[in-house]
Amino acid sequence: MTPESRIELRSGREMPVMGLGTWQLTRDTAETVQSAIEAGYRMIDTAVDYGSQRGIGEAIRASGIDRDALFVVTKIEETDDPMAGVRRDLEELQLDHADLTLIHRPPPEGAGEDLWRGLMEAREAGLVRDIGVSNYRAEMIGRLSEATGVVPAVNQVEWSPFGHEAALLAHHREAGIVLQAYSPLTRGERLEDAVLMEIGRRRGKTPAQVLIRWNLQRGSVPLPKANHDAHFRENLDVFDFDLDARDMERLDALNAHWSALGSLPYVD
Ligand code: NAP
Repeated sequence: MTPESRIELRSGREMPVMGLGTWQLTRDTAETVQSAIEAGYRMIDTAVDYGSQRGIGEAIRASGIDRDALFVVTKIEETDDPMAGVRRDLEELQLDHADLTLIHRPPPEGAGEDLWRGLMEAREAGLVRDIGVSNYRAEMIGRLSEATGVVPAVNQVEWSPFGHEAALLAHHREAGIVLQAYSPLTRGERLEDAVLMEIGRRRGKTPAQVLIRWNLQRGSVPLPKANHDAHFRENLDVFDFDLDARDMERLDALNAHWSALGSLPYVD
């Protein structure tokens, strides 16, 4: 695996094996994202409430990188009219399509079947290449698929050794759904964990790099966010070492369904 590696989506299109999160980028977004693209990031995750879409669009245009080499993930809100939400995001980004658009979270009632039909329409219209969900349980994904015959390409969920669910990953693998890992660095809250630090010391890597590598080796796609250049460069420097089976087992065993955001919607 290298920073250029991609993972195949059920559509046959490919998505980078990791990306940059942009929630709470407090530095100048355009400058940060442009530096991250220069450092080698090819996937950028955003949503309207992150306030980062205009800066991401600017960074993409300034980067000089071919649009097809970049992968932009957007989200519609559960309160959105889906087509209007997709168009709003593209307008802010000043792009003619998103590579992947997700339902940000399920609505309070139902599984979001109408939102899903709306995203299918946006895909038909060429505004979005692939469509998926975020914060969904396996059972709710089943309801979307049964209602429409269309299975999400991706489910984006909070995911770290401290909070994950092997059964969800197994379900997604079986169903051909890629799991994207948000808050993969525990929002910085668990980086001093003794197991992470010990494995990192032995591998000559930092706890953050161990967390990212754990995802890559499990086939989940991490989206670490970083304001600081040193951080996003460090987070990309994870392709020159391996965690062995024992390391992976010890990391898996840290699971306590812990969440940096309060709860794991696919468990609680
Ligand atoms: P995260 O990526 O787990 O953690 C970000 C924090 O870790 C920041 O404080 C960052 O510091 C710090 N950090 C980054 N690299 C580091 C390193 N190498 N060493 C030490 N600290 C480091 O948290 P997140 O932003 O919640 O999650 C990532 C992305 O997932 C979001 O930005 C967003 O794109 C997405 N997300 C999606 C949802 C959803 O509902 N779909 C929810 C939450 C997040 P600096 O910023 O100071 O560099």
